[in-house]
Amino acid sequence: MPIGVLPMRSLRLRSSYIEISNILRGRAAALPRQCHRPLHAPRYFHARACLLQEPPKELPAFLEAYKRAVDFPPATHDFETFFAQAEPNTEVVLHGYLGQRSDLSKKLSFVRLADPTLQHSLQVVAFAKNNAFEKLKALNANSPVAVRGIVQKKKAKASESADKPAEDSWELALEEIHPLNDFPKETIMTPETVFPPEQRYLQLRSDAELREALRFRARAHNLCKKELEEQSPPFFEIETPLLFKSTPEGAREFIVPTRREGLAYALPQSPQQYKQILMASGLPRYYQFARCFRDEDLRADRQPEFTQLDMEMSFATGDDVMRTIEGVIRRLWSSLMKDPAPEGPFRKVPYQEVMAKYGSDKPDTRYGMEIIRLDQLLPVDLIGKISDLEDPIVEAFKLEGNENDPAETHKFITQFLDSPAGAPFNNNPDGGPGVFIYNGKQPLCGLQPFGFQAAEHVEELLDPDHGDLIILQARPRAPFSGGSTPIGDLRRALHASSVSTGFKPAPTGFDFLWVVDFPLFSPSSDSEPGQGGAAGISSTHHPFTAPKTPADVDLLLTDPTQAVADHYDLVVNGVELGGGSRRIHDAAVQEFIFREILKMPAERLDDFSHLLDALRSGCPPHAGLALGFDRLVAVMLGKESVRDVIAFPKTGRGGDDAMVGAPSPMTEQALETYHLKLRK
Ligand code: ASP
Repeated sequence: MPIGVLPMRSLRLRSSYIEISNILRGRAAALPRQCHRPLHAPRYFHARACLLQEPPKELPAFLEAYKRAVDFPPATHDFETFFAQAEPNTEVVLHGYLGQRSDLSKKLSFVRLADPTLQHSLQVVAFAKNNAFEKLKALNANSPVAVRGIVQKKKAKASESADKPAEDSWELALEEIHPLNDFPKETIMTPETVFPPEQRYLQLRSDAELREALRFRARAHNLCKKELEEQSPPFFEIETPLLFKSTPEGAREFIVPTRREGLAYALPQSPQQYKQILMASGLPRYYQFARCFRDEDLRADRQPEFTQLDMEMSFATGDDVMRTIEGVIRRLWSSLMKDPAPEGPFRKVPYQEVMAKYGSDKPDTRYGMEIIRLDQLLPVDLIGKISDLEDPIVEAFKLEGNENDPAETHKFITQFLDSPAGAPFNNNPDGGPGVFIYNGKQPLCGLQPFGFQAAEHVEELLDPDHGDLIILQARPRAPFSGGSTPIGDLRRALHASSVSTGFKPAPTGFDFLWVVDFPLFSPSSDSEPGQGGAAGISSTHHPFTAPKTPADVDLLLTDPTQAVADHYDLVVNGVELGGGSRRIHDAAVQEFIFREILKMPAERLDDFSHLLDALRSGCPPHAGLALGFDRLVAVMLGKESVRDVIAFPKTGRGGDDAMVGAPSPMTEQALETYHLKLRK
């Protein structure tokens, strides 16, 4: 693929500056001492330009071109209206971008004119009968223009059918052309060109799919709004502040220093606290397309700033929230998707069950490969061969082979395990995967190492066919925690590889489910800041999530790690679209969780005093959720990365915007303004 050449921008800008300064310097001697700025002159130009008494006879070429470019005729039609209403021998003015010109002779050229949306185009014919012909020939492809011309019916070629598209039925005989700007001749731009992130505008301009994704996103946005605002009572959008304060909600924050010494704002990781305070404020149904900021590792296709469809309802339970969100999803699917809208209610599967069955809290449930437990039945020497762990849990799953041919299956799994994708599984310190190929031509069908009893059990539970792959994997004997188990990761990676290598077809459709009943607390990890408490545990969702049942409330006193949360995640095809919970609406309980369970230091607890005060002011019960909007759109469009549905995404590991060069170094002056000092 051709790679776009780097911009000539700086070179060109520099030559323009030189031209300006030469003019001004050349005239400086003849300048009068005083002058009055004409009313229409821009203020910033006044300081130096007003020094000329009258404009020079000959303006520099770039100013002449600019003067012509700003004085262009309005379009008589947009292209869609034009195609619907075109009349032969009428005069029209159209705006757009020139395509590649083809010169048929010295007197005849053709060029396509793409409309400003780049979705339609029309053929323009130029004859050497007026100066428009010469002007056209001086212009580079991709330059923006306004053209005036006479509408002509295009002559059908013998090979063309009668019902050809409107774009091919009409052409324009060029009368006049207004160049509006130049496109650099040296820049190669084809639909396949990949531009560096610095030139995102050219990527957007050349990549119709990317532009279409942004249009689709806007339509999805409007449909979500509609669905929520048509509820009774309606939700309404309320903006909450972006300059917030640092609170230990769970994710690492971005800090915004102020000119007041030692004081900083924090950007919100979500509008969670404000939306709960809205519930205490008598605004029972809130939503917002909210920008959120999390200073996270950019692995796993995350963006440091992203958009949530955030909502909250008072006098409501988690079930009310889930029902409302299912309505939003159904509306989106029925309006925008070819796939049928998912029927409801979506099934609810407890965390313990998805972790046991799929080894993931956001499983792709479309392709089976369900996991079973085997350790009680397996011979000790087989367990010893796959793991050095003392008394591990051993689990298994089946991947259906291709064409019942054990040799094909063998080839697939060997390639996978030898590839970089297989390396983390081979190097698992708890033992690599045990690989078996079910083969009717071998004793015990290739399951001899299982022993008779376990082999029979495997056959009963997995129902393998000749050529199927059976994978064993050990893990330490411990309750489920976190997002996945090693066998769950292996299931996902192996399936992805089977699809990418063509060993299996890609699954189709959308399978939505709610994952519910997460543990209220999880062991703290080094990678997530959590709430910074001293208890060694952090809230699995966030510290405002309520325990699910009265029995879970009791567990807060006896064994909080066993308490189940009223927390629900919406999952589809292996992607977590969003999550939410019923909240603790009682200040004393919320404070008890902060202080006694999470053991947050007193000064951090103080950071939440605004929330506790609001809960104390008769806050009704409430529940809510946020959908990751970038991810939702990416899933709807079948895009691998959220970057493909964001106009200006951050790229690279550091969350850089390479186009604008952000983040940028702080100047000495800025450091001083904000009372900051860089540590060596
Ligand atoms: N604030 C939560 C989040 O950002 C969503 C919620 O609980 O409503 O994940």
